Amino acid sequence: MILSDEQAQIRDTARRFAREKLAPGYQRREAEARVDRALIAEMGALGLIAPELPEDLGGYGMPSVTSGLIAEEIGYGDMNVAYVQILGSLNGAIIARHGAPDLAAEWVGRIVSGQSVVAIGLTEPRGGSDAANLALSARRDGDHYILKGEKSSISMADQADAVVLFARTGEASDGARGVTALLVPMDTPGVSTLRFTDLGSKAIGRSSIFFDEVRIPVASRLAAEGSGFIQVMQGFDFSRALIGLQCIGAAQASLDESWAYVQEREAFGGPIARNQGVTFPLAEGEGLIAAVRQLCLHTLALRDAGQPHTSEAAICKWLGPKTAVDVIHQCLLTHGHYGWSLDLPHQQRLRDVMGLEIGDGTAQIMKLIVSREKLRAARP
Ligand SMILES: Cc1cc2nc3c(=O)[nH]c(=O)nc-3n(C[C@H](O)[C@H](O)[C@H](O)COP(=O)(O)OP(=O)(O)OC[C@H]3O[C@@H](n4cnc5c(N)ncnc54)[C@H](O)[C@@H]3O)c2cc1C
Repeated sequence: MILSDEQAQIRDTARRFAREKLAPGYQRREAEARVDRALIAEMGALGLIAPELPEDLGGYGMPSVTSGLIAEEIGYGDMNVAYVQILGSLNGAIIARHGAPDLAAEWVGRIVSGQSVVAIGLTEPRGGSDAANLALSARRDGDHYILKGEKSSISMADQADAVVLFARTGEASDGARGVTALLVPMDTPGVSTLRFTDLGSKAIGRSSIFFDEVRIPVASRLAAEGSGFIQVMQGFDFSRALIGLQCIGAAQASLDESWAYVQEREAFGGPIARNQGVTFPLAEGEGLIAAVRQLCLHTLALRDAGQPHTSEAAICKWLGPKTAVDVIHQCLLTHGHYGWSLDLPHQQRLRDVMGLEIGDGTAQIMKLIVSREKLRAARP
């Protein structure tokens, strides 16, 4: 994809920031189990969080493709920090598009500037794939909703300032049509969290969020009552393309480190790079990553052009993390016994990208989406 001068400039800013500021702290952030708020504010000040959001709400009105370029660069330095970009773009778009003007004016600028982090609360203990089959209830009481129930597996829940929450306002038999989306500040009385012990992305952390008779004004609703699921879920097409780029950014970092390593490491009297058995798997990784990158950018370009891209986005979400897992695994092996050490970042990248083979929907669910779209298009 040919970039505009402005896009190349923003990509270079993100690249410098990711390589100089983020990469050296990637493993430290895992140990600290959080993303420093000053770092998030710095990214915001550089224009690296959700720049596609509307200018009148505090965004920069840039194309979605620009956000994709940033997601890959930040993913290269620290793929966990890229969660901040992706949550910002996903939730920022939902709030900007479906929130009341006052609510949008309050939150969108804070997301873009890095002052606020907003989590997304969809999954429940009973399951995530069948997302519309949720039970957390929002009972109407005058000009408030009373929330009761539990969300599970929510990224950044214990670091976030608010959560875009999907709750049931209708009957269980209403399915997706009985679901309403609300913006809930995390410091609202009755909200509490409990963090999971995870294999990866520890700087992000996943938690259950408990809602114990939580009172939320009706004005915090996103989209009309009962239409939250259907309207708001369309935003996931955007985050899925960004996740693909986040993951291949991490894989590209491991590949670049591997190309350098194979020229330094010697075996059988010379650098191991002399063996095609060493370089070809890396070359294959470059090819796979280049293909996924172009697919993700193409998907974002379709979004910018207002064209359908649900099937493409599902493919990005399925192939991005999977390709990154395969490539980083190969890079780890290329580093021999050093690769197996916790001192090198490949093992952490492998654990971190693997989480996104599940988060935001598994490969099976993405293939269900692709199949549904293709069957509809080919309906006899
Ligand atoms: C790193 C990470 C971050 C996450 N962040 C968030 C977040 O911020 N917010 C949030 O709401 N959720 C989040 N999640 C939850 C995630 O979205 C769910 O885990 C995911 O949607 C799958 O739901 P489940 O775990 O309940 O699996 P289940 O729905 O129980 O599925 C179990 C298995 O069965 C398969 N399966 C289910 N139905 C079908 C079918 N019809 N056909 C074929 N296979 C099927 C699934 O693919 C999966 O392999 C995160 C998860 C992870 C791992």
